[in-house]
Amino acid sequence: MSEPSKIAYGVSRESSKNIPFYADYKVSCGCGHRDHDISIDFEHDGGIVWLTFHKRIIWSCYWGTRRWYQSLKRRFLGAFTLFFRGWLEFEETFILDNVEHIDGFILALQEGKQRLLAYCEKIEKEK
Ligand SMILES: [Zn+2]
Repeated sequence: MSEPSKIAYGVSRESSKNIPFYADYKVSCGCGHRDHDISIDFEHDGGIVWLTFHKRIIWSCYWGTRRWYQSLKRRFLGAFTLFFRGWLEFEETFILDNVEHIDGFILALQEGKQRLLAYCEKIEKEK
């Protein structure tokens, strides 16, 4: 079960009691749209540690369109491009809207790293 707690401006921490090590952070986009948020996951598995960023990428089919069929046409063009080319290029904006928000992002990275290192040290001592 996950319980987000706010640790800094625009940053919350996910926690779980069922998983030995779990340090995931959610950083909100400065524009306020929830679909733009980034999740930062610190992971540990068998002595290997890594950091993963998750972000929803949205196909821009509504930008500059006035009629419903224009956005539908863009969806089909995107689907055909993916089908025939095998890949798509995306560009998505993520905004850290002030110094406090940037500090919160950095804090999440530093805190997650420290928690991960503390967990690695703990399991190393238990061996
Ligand atoms: Zn945004």
